[in-house]
Amino acid sequence: MTPDSGIDVQHFLALNERLCELVHNIASGNYDDSSVDALYELTRASVYPRQITQLAESFGLMLVRLQARELHAQALIRDLERARTALQEYTHHLEQRVEEKTNDLRIANEELTRLSLMDGLTGIANRRHFDRYLESEWNRSIRKHAPLSLILIDVDHFKRYNDALGHLQGDESLCLLARTICGCARRSSDLVARYGGEEFAAILPETDITGAVCCAETMREAVENLGVSHPDSTTGSVMTISLGVARAYPVRQESAATLIARADHCLYQAKSGGRNRVVAHAGMNTISD
Ligand code: GH3
Ligand code: MG
Ligand code: MG
Repeated sequence: MTPDSGIDVQHFLALNERLCELVHNIASGNYDDSSVDALYELTRASVYPRQITQLAESFGLMLVRLQARELHAQALIRDLERARTALQEYTHHLEQRVEEKTNDLRIANEELTRLSLMDGLTGIANRRHFDRYLESEWNRSIRKHAPLSLILIDVDHFKRYNDALGHLQGDESLCLLARTICGCARRSSDLVARYGGEEFAAILPETDITGAVCCAETMREAVENLGVSHPDSTTGSVMTISLGVARAYPVRQESAATLIARADHCLYQAKSGGRNRVVAHAGMNTISD
């Protein structure tokens, strides 16, 4: 303590050092209650107890406020973290829902496509499917320089069958015939379709006339061997079919309609020749032969 002022210099310096330390801690965020307590401790014997105590109180208050703000900020961070987690979960949930719906839509579309290409009565390919497939196989055969065969099939005296046994029985027999004819075209590239009414058609890619006639004959035999009784046929006692076969080596200058016309012509000959038979266009190299 100096004789005139009565201030203890050592004590003042220590106090000053504490203050600097506290200010530094506060500035760097390392403040805590012990710093303020130490400050209070130093003020006890000070010559400026009131001012220093006020200063210490102000620091104490500031500390409390800073701590409160920090707590508030931490609570805010926690809320934000929770919100972010909830948002991530919701996004994940939404993505899953979108994926599910997209999958449902894809399945529904596939089913729609399948139904649009299927004959409602017999369950085999319909005329639309036949048209598309013939067109694409015609073009593929041009590129591959491969033969393409077509069989047109017509049920003999089917009107009489309906008239004798009723339309429902007629429908049932058509379904049986469809299954039987399909079973005779074994290659995965073969397509049997309901061409219309009581007519069917088989597209046989990469098949020459010999193979196509063989396949047609198998169909004819299989239907006859079913032994479905036909009470009013002039051809025989059982249900039979007539078949017209044509083969082409497709070329760009012609369309698949030429192949259909040729098979149809053969079918007509099979009918006029007595029914229950196969007639084919044989020994030709190109459709225009
Ligand atoms: P042909 O031997 O000359 O072919 O004689 P057809 O009686 O079979 O030929 P026609 O063209 O005179 O008659 C075809 C019959 O096929 C008439 C029609 O009622 C029947 N038909 C066509 N579509 C269906 C069908 O979906 N269900 C049934 N039950 N009958 C059908
Ligand atoms: Mg017919
Ligand atoms: Mg008929």
